Amino acid sequence: MSVNERTYIMIKPDGVQRNLVGKIIARFEERGFKLIALKLVQSTEEHLEKHYADLKGKAFFPGLIKYMASGPVVAMVWQGLDAVKTGRVMLGATNPLQSPVGSIRGDFCLAVGRNICHGSDSVESAEKEIALWFPEGVVQYTSALEQWIFE
Ligand code: ADP
Repeated sequence: MSVNERTYIMIKPDGVQRNLVGKIIARFEERGFKLIALKLVQSTEEHLEKHYADLKGKAFFPGLIKYMASGPVVAMVWQGLDAVKTGRVMLGATNPLQSPVGSIRGDFCLAVGRNICHGSDSVESAEKEIALWFPEGVVQYTSALEQWIFE
């Protein structure tokens, strides 16, 4: 666990279409995480199959790829203390019905196949996902707030 831990967070096509981009970004900003990469992307099925390679073979895989390619996504990298695990807690459970109120999925959605956001599930998958979505690299800068967020 480090203050420089990075996680890949993505707002899925339903989150973009439902105008939840600002609210989701605000939660990560307000929690104290630092935004180090951001873009709106119309992804391809081929790219999404790489992102979700571990799920190939699941019955929902073809539907998942179509859903994820159905409109633009917001790809982001957030950095901060325990970013991967804390990011997952902020997102909620995979199934929104099992997500606590107060989490993003618990507050904004209902169906597992329309769960509006993605977050890396380990530091290793975060590194892979950041490289896949941001081959150009992330942005390094000093945030003036860091001394007020970390000891
Ligand atoms: P998470 O996104 O929480 O890490 P998974 O990696 O298990 O969850 O699944 C990836 C995505 O696939 C989920 O976020 C969800 O959009 C979709 N998904 C998972 N399980 C189902 C399911 N049973 N039916 C439809 N879609 C599913």
